[in-house]
Amino acid sequence: MDLPVDEWKSYLLQKWASLPTSVQVTISTAETLRDIFLHSSSLLQPEDELFLKRLSKGYLVGKDSDAPLFYREEGNKKFQEKDYTGAAVLYSKGVSHSRPNTEDMSLCHANRSAALFHLGQYETCLKDINRAQTHGYPERLQPKIMLRKAECLVALGRLQEASQTISDLERNFTATPALADVLPQTLQRNLHRLKMKMQEKDSLTESFPAALAKTLEDAALREENEQLSNASSSIGLCVDPLKGRCLVATKDILPGELLVQEDAFVSVLNPGELPPPHHGLDSKWDTRVTNGDLYCHRCLKHTLATVPCDGCSYAKYCSQECLQQAWELYHRTECPLGGLLLTLGVFCHIALRLTLLVGFEDVRKIITKLCDKISNKDICLPESNNQVKTLNYGLGESEKNGNIVETPIPGCDINGKYENNYNAVFNLLPHTENHSPEHKFLCALCVSALCRQLEAASLQAIPTERIVNSSQLKAAVTPELCPDVTIWGVAMLRHMLQLQCNAQAMTTIQHTGPHKSRMGVAERQQKLRSQYFFDCACPACQTEAHRMAAGPRWEAFCCNSCGAPMQGDDVLRCGSRSCAESAVSRDHLVSRLQDLQQQVRVAQKLLRDGELERAVQRLSGCQRDAESFLWAEHAVVGEIADGLARACAALGDWQKSATHLQRSLYVVEVRHGPSSVEMGHELFKLAQIFFNGFAVPEALSTIQKAEEVLSLHCGPWDDEIQELQKMKSCLLDLPPTPVGPAL
Ligand SMILES: [Zn+2]
Ligand SMILES: [Zn+2]
Ligand SMILES: [Zn+2]
Ligand SMILES: [Zn+2]
Repeated sequence: MDLPVDEWKSYLLQKWASLPTSVQVTISTAETLRDIFLHSSSLLQPEDELFLKRLSKGYLVGKDSDAPLFYREEGNKKFQEKDYTGAAVLYSKGVSHSRPNTEDMSLCHANRSAALFHLGQYETCLKDINRAQTHGYPERLQPKIMLRKAECLVALGRLQEASQTISDLERNFTATPALADVLPQTLQRNLHRLKMKMQEKDSLTESFPAALAKTLEDAALREENEQLSNASSSIGLCVDPLKGRCLVATKDILPGELLVQEDAFVSVLNPGELPPPHHGLDSKWDTRVTNGDLYCHRCLKHTLATVPCDGCSYAKYCSQECLQQAWELYHRTECPLGGLLLTLGVFCHIALRLTLLVGFEDVRKIITKLCDKISNKDICLPESNNQVKTLNYGLGESEKNGNIVETPIPGCDINGKYENNYNAVFNLLPHTENHSPEHKFLCALCVSALCRQLEAASLQAIPTERIVNSSQLKAAVTPELCPDVTIWGVAMLRHMLQLQCNAQAMTTIQHTGPHKSRMGVAERQQKLRSQYFFDCACPACQTEAHRMAAGPRWEAFCCNSCGAPMQGDDVLRCGSRSCAESAVSRDHLVSRLQDLQQQVRVAQKLLRDGELERAVQRLSGCQRDAESFLWAEHAVVGEIADGLARACAALGDWQKSATHLQRSLYVVEVRHGPSSVEMGHELFKLAQIFFNGFAVPEALSTIQKAEEVLSLHCGPWDDEIQELQKMKSCLLDLPPTPVGPAL
């Protein structure tokens, strides 16, 4: 999804493979991005563009007037099943296909307000009721949403407004007797119930936990950094010939310490797994939930009540403000290109949005400034080996009183202070020489296809009909296209290549990154090399590389007679000199380990099937076996202890369970570190066991440790943290017992 869709990618790679060698060589050996761009884009043929156009058409990005009814009915089904979130998403899809001021638009909003009401999102519900009314909600249905509005207001404690709404509602009925007749009995009953509720509520004081996001506000930088206004003083900025501008630690960093707090210069909502582009008529409308249904297209905020763009069905926002800002900054250009941007992938999309945000004039200034400085007649970007040096001289300068002053770090001002501006972004390294020629060709063709579309769009203005009903939006104007598309193309190509090393993906926490506790040094270094183009020489990598023969501690074998770690490659010997134990082949130990793992799996199956006694028996056997040849910190030793802890807990033997779990906890701590999220999960389990065994002091201290570790990784809404707090308050509420059941 970062890169183009597979069909277009393989199409281009095939095209590359079929190029004459001489052309391939020209592109591979081109010294500047400009040359790469020009050579590649001259090869983009009309039939290529046609193929791309066909792919782009597969995405439903426009508005389909038949879709709102379909989505509303699908939403109603979910609503019946009490899946209110699912219903809200489907109603949102209906909204995104509706035209302003139509019954479709108002009904979709009204239905969504009902779903939001059931989800307890009263503020958002009120907004949707308001939207339903402004888009022409049918008179005959008014009582329904007015009653809902009153309910929301009561729930929010806004009683005065609620009673105003109720009297409006009642006046409506008396004014139009026809309405009073159709007002169903249930509605009247609800009205009565609501009035009662209001009387109750009146006596309560208003108390709203307005501090949901408080923890985020509290998270502040410990000490501000003079060079980097948005960073802590624990880090510094420097430049490295291979990595470019980078951050380094200047003092020890505490786990969980906030290092940088800065808004993204540019961001694009990752569409996530998209349904395959449809070509036939079957399953025309997709009912699956995508990122675009849940997050604002501009600020990425989570929302169930999206506000769609008036011109397309794929851009949805958290608010009218976001919609308007996006439109003015970039979406008026992007709006008609939805299908193309989905086909070309997120990187290409970010590259476009970046240049749109900055504006062509600034892009041109930076590029031409660079080219003047390196006194090249041609507009070009140096990509040779002395790139950083060239960039230093070319861009890392600012004028002060007419004197050219050199700054050592590209993207900083004359005082060496980092500036969050386009210059800083532009100076990130694209690593042109490290990307494969076919990858550069692929990116260049994506960018030039996009440039041609932009050119074509600038020739024929966007039909004004698209936004005719939106008075708040500026009339669609022809996107301001640059006089020289090449400059735009070169800038976008540079950004596309930069993104692989410099972009941040925001996802849910993943534990698969190249970290020393989760991945061996060889695999880790290979990963870093292929994505970031450098050989890591950090202390962890160096010490681990030295010990490579023995492997990491959680994979180590130990001597059968003295327990010292075994050393060697194919043949392992006891590490203790005084020990007389004979050598053993690695293969032998590995096959013993495999047998043991098989035994452990059998025991785990018994455990799952509830055959607890047998599971304990087998696991105890495994434990004895493991002690005879595995290092005490071996991952399998931890796994066995964990199984025993579970079995004992299930048998109600909390004391034994805790002992086993502490063993497993030790293995996890050695491998992942005392403040790792893995450690947090183990501490959580241990806290549960102490809690269940009424070991109050142990439970309380473990709960505190678990909370400390987990809160470094997760927010206060995390399930485990919430559970820990419940346990704590439960324990603190216990009457003091003279002698608690010992554990
Ligand atoms: Zn937003
Ligand atoms: Zn749009
Ligand atoms: Zn390293
Ligand atoms: Zn030994």
